[in-house]
Amino acid sequence: MPVERTLSIIKPDATRRNLTGRINARFEAAGLRLVAQKRLSLTRAAAEQFYRVHAGRPFFAPLCAFMSSGPVVVQVLEGEDAIARNRAIMGATDPAKAEKGTIRADFAESIEANSAHGSDSPETAAQEIAFFFSALEIVG
Ligand code: UDP
Ligand code: MG
Repeated sequence: MPVERTLSIIKPDATRRNLTGRINARFEAAGLRLVAQKRLSLTRAAAEQFYRVHAGRPFFAPLCAFMSSGPVVVQVLEGEDAIARNRAIMGATDPAKAEKGTIRADFAESIEANSAHGSDSPETAAQEIAFFFSALEIVG
């Protein structure tokens, strides 16, 4: 399986509840390496730009308000099959449908405040990593 990089975000509901370390421990236990990480506050405009693929969906405006409501931790995870592996560790978007033991099943507050973001393909991973990180900031 290929070594990949994926963009992960620990969302404001999780940073507010001090869950950054517990979430990162799950990535590391699953063999993903944290090769870049920073904590920041997204402006509303930055959230809208990041989630532009969802512009027009009914959840877009509340999602962007939520994502700019508190600090996030943006990070690059590296490992074999990292994109799919990260999404498996996160679980389904809706925590009510997420498998037991996943981040979203265990920590999410709602389908919106679902604790984590992960890229969904090699193309979006490359775009999303470049949205937050320069090459010098990623240390494999
Ligand atoms: N979202 C929401 N309501 C929905 C679907 C999605 O609030 O009905 C939010 C949720 O925070 C989700 C994000 O929008 O994580 C992006 O949606 P996507 O379908 O890309 O889900 P993901 O890839 O994050 O599982
Ligand atoms: Mg998505």
